Amino acid sequence: MHTPDTLHRRGLMFILSSPSGTGKTTISRLLLDADDELCLSVSVTTRPMRPGEVDGKDYIFVDQPTFDHMVEEEHFLEWAHVFGHSYGTPKAQVKAGLREGQDFLFDIDWQGTQQLYQKLETDVVRVFLLPPSIDELRRRLTGRGTDSAEVITARMERARAEISHWDGYDYVVVNDDIDECFAKVKEVLHAERMKRARQTGLIGFVRGLMKD
Ligand code: ADP
Ligand code: 5GP
Repeated sequence: MHTPDTLHRRGLMFILSSPSGTGKTTISRLLLDADDELCLSVSVTTRPMRPGEVDGKDYIFVDQPTFDHMVEEEHFLEWAHVFGHSYGTPKAQVKAGLREGQDFLFDIDWQGTQQLYQKLETDVVRVFLLPPSIDELRRRLTGRGTDSAEVITARMERARAEISHWDGYDYVVVNDDIDECFAKVKEVLHAERMKRARQTGLIGFVRGLMKD
């Protein structure tokens, strides 16, 4: 006998985007640690690995010819060029997982978000994080210590363009205080899981209620 908590539901695609440096990697890690039903959709990229990153966990790191071959073989749900490198979302794991009720977290940019939304609109939940100010964004990028001054300047320039895509998202959260931002993003995830259309086991459950 199913209880409302064990009913089958279709997984969702939880997309977290933000201007680089706002905190989406930080929020993503907190979410993944806190939530067993959520796993990261690991993207493929041609960019060099950063200190502390693990191949296969943070990204699948490949060279450009390998990436181009994967594009030709239609290996990706979406792909894009960002900061001079290629990034793509592998298709197979996500499609199978969604059917089984697995939720996926996507740390992708607005171009990827648009492509996923066009393909799988009803599975997609789009969340955009904004920095509390441009000065704070620069402080975070500098404080992270992973990029050269040149890369930080490029990321700041791009940040303004990225901010302009705020209206292509379902939810927008300002990441000022990290705990508050995390709590709000979790609320969105929990509420989206209860959407009737995702709860594919509900119809049988309700029929049972009406029979008893
Ligand atoms: P993104 O993935 O969006 O590029 P990160 O998660 O790497 O950003 O965060 C950039 C830097 O800002 C990191 O050093 C992180 O610890 C810091 N950071 C993230 N959120 C906050 C916050 N709410 N307040 C202060 N610093 C933050
Ligand atoms: P970073 O190199 O800082 O990890 O990521 C740079 C940008 O690429 C971020 O905005 C990130 O969200 C985006 N990104 C990462 N993976 C993908 C992907 O698979 N597809 C798309 N479209 N963007 C991605």
